[in-house]
Amino acid sequence: MESLSESSPLTLITEAESASAPRVDHRSAAAARPRYTTETVVDVRYWTPNLLSFRTTRPASFRFTPGHYARLGLCTADGSVVWRPFSLASAAHDPHLEFLAVLVPGGEFSDLLDRIGESDTVLVEKSSYGFLTIAHFAPGKDLWLVASGTGLGPYVSILHDPATWQAYDNLIVVHSVRYSTELAYRDEIAALVHQERLAASADRLRYVPVVTRECCPNALAARIPRLIEEGRLEHAAGITLDPQRSRIMVCGNPEMARELRRLFTERGFRTNRRAAPGQLAFENYWT
Ligand code: NAP
Repeated sequence: MESLSESSPLTLITEAESASAPRVDHRSAAAARPRYTTETVVDVRYWTPNLLSFRTTRPASFRFTPGHYARLGLCTADGSVVWRPFSLASAAHDPHLEFLAVLVPGGEFSDLLDRIGESDTVLVEKSSYGFLTIAHFAPGKDLWLVASGTGLGPYVSILHDPATWQAYDNLIVVHSVRYSTELAYRDEIAALVHQERLAASADRLRYVPVVTRECCPNALAARIPRLIEEGRLEHAAGITLDPQRSRIMVCGNPEMARELRRLFTERGFRTNRRAAPGQLAFENYWT
């Protein structure tokens, strides 16, 4: 994780990686000074039958920057462990860790995750990773947090961080989902503006829901790239996309990310590089 690239070399929540992912023997790894801690599930919340958030205990030594992801391991019946990267949705100061996940039919990790409940065990690697953090941007005025599906997860953590509110005048959350029930954290995001510790205010936070497969009042109804091309996203947010002032994170569907990279590049935005901080940062959730 040395180079400051626009997206992490790991894609997140990749059931596709299961074929090539190393299967670690839990017992021998533990004997050789494990790189992970053993945590306990304290809560599981289902937004829909295949979309859930789960919370675990947090080791006192675990530190992360909002926007980072952690690698989680679930034990199989034969004692091996299946690992997947998951963005942290919890605040940096939260005594627990929280993650947002979609259950992928037939996925090895998803099958294990589908069965977890309170008191079950999750392994958490001791380090966190990622480039989807506000520190990777040059200063700007407006922070656009653009997500599809579970790509919202890291933004929940970023939005809970007082540093985010100090760094930007306006925060714009754009969340595209298929059905309105998948608008996870909608109420929590709305409630942020009442948190005194954030010095947040309603006029600085724009929440733009996008629901693509059913009619939903107060939500936009087309894919995000099209909404941008037609000017409808800026209109809904009441803010112009401008390389001078906008800093944009994109997280979720990799095809959406590719399309948005092209669109924003055409409009003069540049991806973050080590030598030249840009205005764009991407995280793909699967390949
Ligand atoms: P999704 O299919 O990406 O849909 C979320 C939102 O993104 C929808 O509004 C969708 O619009 C939109 N979208 C899809 N493709 C787009 C594109 N090319 N450009 C712009 N917007 C696009 O994700 P999801 O609802 O979170 O998950 C759906 C399925 O994805 C899961 O059931 C699972 O099979 C798979 N998934 C797999 C993994 C994995 O690790 N392999 C991880 C997460 C999800 P439309 O309604 O128009 O499609």
